[in-house]
Formats: sequence, structure tokens, C-alpha cells
Amino acid sequence: MIDCIFCKIVNGKIPAEIVFENDHVMAFRDIQPQAREHFLFIHKAHQADLVEMVHENPEGVLQIMKAIGEFSKKTKMKENGFRVVTNIGRSAGQSVFHTHFHVLSDNHLGRFGK
Ligand code: 5GP
Ligand code: ZN
Repeated sequence: MIDCIFCKIVNGKIPAEIVFENDHVMAFRDIQPQAREHFLFIHKAHQADLVEMVHENPEGVLQIMKAIGEFSKKTKMKENGFRVVTNIGRSAGQSVFHTHFHVLSDNHLGRFGK
């Protein structure tokens, strides 16, 4: 999608610190980390949010989850513990409308909610 910032990262039009990539999935560091380790996992094919994606590309959701699992085992994340979050809609804090999963890891992650 032409104006989508994450599509631009996929296409190499804007830089990102890429930590994982395969044919379907890409992951890079969040520009404003909310934990010691904060990555964004996305599918290369644009879908606005998880609800759309489950409809349009359910296989893609699994591909992202597999990538997160693989990455967590390759790094210390699986051992240390981590959290996966996706925001859907502005009131939930979604600001980029290309489905992404926040992957957060830290010595201690506070409870989420408010
Ligand atoms: P959302 O608010 O939609 O759940 O998450 C969007 C995330 O994308 C935010 O945590 C924000 O810091 C991150 N972000 C926005 N623009 C960029 C960018 O150009 N590069 C990277 N690496 N992260 C970005
Ligand atoms: Zn996009």
C-alpha cells in the first residue's frame, strides 16, 4: 500500500533495524521501544488490522506466529519470557494500520490494562 509506513519498510523505502525476515514475514525494532527488547512482527502483505487479516489472510497470521516462535528460540526471549500484543483500532492505541504484533521482552513486564 502506497502510503503505509510498514509497507515502505518491507520495500526498503525507509530504513529499519530488521531482526528477522523470511518470504512472508519481517520483524524490526520499534522506533520507540516500550521495553528492553521491543520488536514489531508484520506480514509482508498489507492488511489493516488483525480482524481484517484473519478474514483475508488467515494463513498469514500463522506465518507471523511461527516467525515469533522461531525468533524466540533463536534468541534468549523464549527463556526470558516475552509478551505479544496487537492493537486494533485507534481507541486501543493502533497508530499504524498495517497489522503488526508487538513483541516485548524485559526483566520484568508490568501488567497491562489501562
Ligand atoms: P501501534 O501504535 O499501531 O500499536 O504501533 C505502532 C508502532 O510502530 C509504535 O510502537 C511506533 O513506535 C512504531 N513505529 C512507528 N513508525 C515507525 C517507524 O518508522 N519505524 C519503526 N521501526 N517503528 C515505527
Ligand atoms: Zn502496509
